[in-house]
Amino acid sequence: MNAPVRVRFAPAPTGLLHIGNGRTALFNYLFARKERGTFILRIEDTDVERSTDASIEAILQDLRWLGILWEEGPDGGGQSGPYRQSQRLSLYHGDAEKLLGEGNVYKCFCSPERLESLRKEQLARGTMPKYDGRCRNLSEGEISKMESEGLLPVLRFRVDKGTVVFEDLIHGRMSFDSDGISDFIIVRSDGMAAYNFACVIDDHSMQISHVIRGEDHLSNTPRQILLYRALGWQPPVFAHHPLILGPDRSPLSKRHGATAVSQYREEGFLPESLLNYLILLGWTPPSGEEILSLEEIVEAFSLSGLSRNAPTHSRKKLEWLNSHYIRKMDKDRLIRHLLPYFEKAGIAVHALDETYLAQICVLLKENLSILSQVEDYLSIFFDEKFFFEEEAKTLLIFPENRNLLQTILNAIEGWSEIEDDSASSLLRQLEEKTGRKGKPLYGLLRAGMTGKMKGPELVKTLPLLGKERMMKRLKMALELT
Ligand code: GLU
Repeated sequence: MNAPVRVRFAPAPTGLLHIGNGRTALFNYLFARKERGTFILRIEDTDVERSTDASIEAILQDLRWLGILWEEGPDGGGQSGPYRQSQRLSLYHGDAEKLLGEGNVYKCFCSPERLESLRKEQLARGTMPKYDGRCRNLSEGEISKMESEGLLPVLRFRVDKGTVVFEDLIHGRMSFDSDGISDFIIVRSDGMAAYNFACVIDDHSMQISHVIRGEDHLSNTPRQILLYRALGWQPPVFAHHPLILGPDRSPLSKRHGATAVSQYREEGFLPESLLNYLILLGWTPPSGEEILSLEEIVEAFSLSGLSRNAPTHSRKKLEWLNSHYIRKMDKDRLIRHLLPYFEKAGIAVHALDETYLAQICVLLKENLSILSQVEDYLSIFFDEKFFFEEEAKTLLIFPENRNLLQTILNAIEGWSEIEDDSASSLLRQLEEKTGRKGKPLYGLLRAGMTGKMKGPELVKTLPLLGKERMMKRLKMALELT
């Protein structure tokens, strides 16, 4: 019988959660759910200088927001803890001693300065930079002498000649010649386990069955396999997925715009949109249907369905998905998500009629691809924010339009209040009175009554403005010079 599926997402808490890492977490989560396995969150915080508790908190918050939930992790649960590497140091020491005793690793006293000049020299010669093995065969005496001088060694893994071959679930057979792998550090001079070492010890002791991670780790995998071999352990199955690229085909980074999950949340993207977007990057659902809930994705997902080609980030696609999910929001959730933007714009929502606020939200949702865009339309409904946009002004002061505006104003004056069911008859009457239809009429009405050239559907907007405000604004428009 196959061992149970156990996968992990192992972020380094050195900053915000990048959408690329969110996607890695998603693949692991989906695979665990699909295979009825366990999804583990492990915090790789051995880089004490760059790791922060605030970043751990932020990563946990972002994953929860996305709905990528773990069964075992730093906040409790699970038998393989602790789930923070900084709390597992004693585990690493034991295995490092074992490898040292067996001669698989050796103490290296080369200074950072020496290593740097070696690197420069090799680059200048046009060869690949790698450790030259100077400390590979130090005698006991040489080691004790340097230690007695207070020099702190690193521990290096001895890479012997040979080839490392493994089957990657996405890339197929991968083969690395040891010539390209220099003796690598497993414990730094401050006693901290280096990434490759801590990762292997943890993946083994947490009984990880599949390591699903970005292609940027492909070159680490042969090193990790060598460690598994030296420790006499069975390596997990590996799957390295391509990374997300920016529109210029370089890895997605800050210079391409927002990259953090939290930035998208703050801008007004919904978690279901981001999840749906991330899964479509490099994975085509068998049904061809692009709008998928998390449950539907779990159902259809398979690792072998992931493309080997790197996907390109498309904000347009993300916005398209987001506008779809915004339209699908139920009223209460929509209001809960939109009112903070009203408040941010300085609108005292608590003093306002709830029904009126709800009507505005429901109307505006049709125009939003990002929740924060609601701010652009608030000037339509709140007098203290009202203004005529430049383009609207130009249209309104056009001499021919002046007369039309007056005709419109006169016609509206004759109406009693404009209600939902009377708005379309009003518009029809205005068509008759002005002899205009379509854009030439509606553009003018929109500009005169909302101050804008674009916005929510006019027939639904007018009842929310009410007769008095419509007239007030038309008079303001007539006074424009
Ligand atoms: N801490 C590593 C990272 O954030 C994890 C790599 C792995 O999954 O092994 O990239």
